[in-house]
Amino acid sequence: MPYTSKEIRLASRPPAGEPQPSVFQLAETEVADPGKGEFVVRNLVMSVDPYMRGRMDDRPSYVPPYQLGQPLDGGAVGEVVASNHKRFAVGDVVAHQLGWREYALLSRGAQKVDTDGISPGAYLGVLGMPGLTAYVGLLDIAALKDGDIVFVSGAAGAVGSLAGQIAKLRGHTVIGSAGSAEKVAWLKEIGFDAAFNYHDGPVAEQLKTAAPDGIDVYFDNVGGEHLEAAIGRMRNHGRIAVCGMISAYNAEEPPAAPRNLIQVVGKRLTIRGYIILDHADRQPAFAQEVGAWVREGKVQFRETIVEGGVEAAPQAFIDLLRGANTGKMLVKL
Ligand code: NDP
Repeated sequence: MPYTSKEIRLASRPPAGEPQPSVFQLAETEVADPGKGEFVVRNLVMSVDPYMRGRMDDRPSYVPPYQLGQPLDGGAVGEVVASNHKRFAVGDVVAHQLGWREYALLSRGAQKVDTDGISPGAYLGVLGMPGLTAYVGLLDIAALKDGDIVFVSGAAGAVGSLAGQIAKLRGHTVIGSAGSAEKVAWLKEIGFDAAFNYHDGPVAEQLKTAAPDGIDVYFDNVGGEHLEAAIGRMRNHGRIAVCGMISAYNAEEPPAAPRNLIQVVGKRLTIRGYIILDHADRQPAFAQEVGAWVREGKVQFRETIVEGGVEAAPQAFIDLLRGANTGKMLVKL
């Protein structure tokens, strides 16, 4: 029997700035019974991620733009409710990429996940794409080495909170920035040596106080003023992993900073961007190492779970870009 499924579609492309709820449209559709090699998943939880903002614009990028009138997609975890696929049985819990809807018809692109003692949402955060992004960014892109002093922006988010904790587990001094006093308190609780609220004053000044000896690695989630401050604080041969620049995603003007790029020369800095899709080969090492840390309780992770079903997803996404989340932002379906 086919499934009636609510889904969120892109009704119009947002102009520059924060997307309004009106760019999203709630719709209902029928999801067919699975044909040969197919299975149907009832989504339990879905992810909203900063990269989705870029996909709402119609411009070439590393992932195709969302199409007008079509459902959005993204990470989700759900339970198989009907299957005609030899590897997936009814009752299996799987992670896949057809979020923003209640039911998904799949034939590939899903992985079984073990939810014994761990929340399904963990596979969209600490043990999922954001987790791998933290791991690769810190270890491969920034090429973390002994003695490095590490600064992480967006540190109370899904990627940043893991990046900081991995650096701590490897014995580094770690400084974090985030957007509220509560987030700063949490960073200290999970082991950051210093943390500041970037709303409390110029980032450069606060970073100077937090890192009096300078920094060797900057894990950039934010760009703009944060990147400028980090360049200014870098020691010679420092490395910057540019994971994201969230301060620019809803910006109406191109960022004014960094104005001090010339220091890259004298300090012999490396600035390297990356896209996690290119680093799937690191998944096994990540799953083994970070999976063990999570099971042993050496890594803390938080989830900000928005209730209200798929209807609540647009506002959850808008709120993510406003900083409403600590840890991973998820929507419970
Ligand atoms: P987060 O969980 O960190 O959530 C986003 C956070 O960004 C908000 O909670 C908010 O926290 C912060 N933020 C929003 N606006 C600003 C601003 N103007 N200045 C500073 N901080 C801001 O999201 P993720 O962990 O999923 O992603 C973090 C970064 O990693 C993003 O830039 C994202 O694009 C990037 N990313 C890159 C990938 C890659 O392949 N390169 C893959 C995955 C993510 P606060 O209250 O602290 O402001």
